Amino acid sequence: MDAPAALAVDIGATKLAVGLVGSDGRVQHQERAASPRRVSESLALLDTLAKRALDVAEAQGRPVSGVGIACGGPLDLARGLVLAPPNLPDWTCVPIRDRMADLSGAPAYLQNDAGAGAIASYLWDNPDHAADVTYVTVSSGVGCGVILDRALMTGHSGNGSELGHIPLIYGGRPCKCGQAGCVEAYVSGTSIGERYAEAHGGPAVTAHDIADRAAQGDNSARAHWIESMQMLNRVIRAAVDLFDPALVCLGGGVTDADAALLAPALDFGGTGGMSDAVGRGLSVRRTGFGRDSGVVSAAAVAWNEIGAADGRRVALRQEV
Ligand SMILES: [Zn+2]
Repeated sequence: MDAPAALAVDIGATKLAVGLVGSDGRVQHQERAASPRRVSESLALLDTLAKRALDVAEAQGRPVSGVGIACGGPLDLARGLVLAPPNLPDWTCVPIRDRMADLSGAPAYLQNDAGAGAIASYLWDNPDHAADVTYVTVSSGVGCGVILDRALMTGHSGNGSELGHIPLIYGGRPCKCGQAGCVEAYVSGTSIGERYAEAHGGPAVTAHDIADRAAQGDNSARAHWIESMQMLNRVIRAAVDLFDPALVCLGGGVTDADAALLAPALDFGGTGGMSDAVGRGLSVRRTGFGRDSGVVSAAAVAWNEIGAADGRRVALRQEV
């Protein structure tokens, strides 16, 4: 019999990803699909992708030890519910954990997508065994997962560390959460594109379009991109000031950009501010999981419960 797998379910605003991942974080199988608009269609598609992954596991003789599910918050972790994420407008009180447990016959675990990214980074992208790891994801939204002294910071309701919804600009752009001026309304992939169209007119563009134009020498796209990455840098510095991590990993679709284009976001050279002082010995880098980060993060939620390859583990709040 082959090594066991975790079934990984990553629920994003623009894509769904389902895969099989080993206890060492290696992806054995993966399928991605665009997220349908309706939750009923999304759940039907997730069922199809999950059944197909289970068939692959069976054909490979790989037992499925558990299911890890990652989704943007807010979530009810105790009851395994997706409550009402601003980036998944049709999802309201969806019992995704029990649905996937019933479908697979294996225990299922739900975690905020950025918290899942932090767990995956701690387990499998952490060669120096840092005990304090912050993960920042920048895609349709902006999320943050925080591990302090080997324990995931979840807060009283399980929805702490929502870096994306801290007001960056007082009275600024409207955010999907209902507030104005949130970090997410400026530096998410969606907002980077929207702000460019607002400033320059013309059709809607994506953050990827702007990165491509910047790489090709378009000066206005380049200036907008660099300003966006500098804003993101200030946001990461805010997280460093708050949580004093040893390792910050940056993930999400926006961070797929060319390394030179991402550099202003990762620049922690001395430009003043508290983060210079607390940031000594700090490592800030792009996640090593690349485009697999969704399924690897979801799988980490399961392996953290079942037991990952080398025995490392992040404590969860109810155990702390
Ligand atoms: Zn917001």
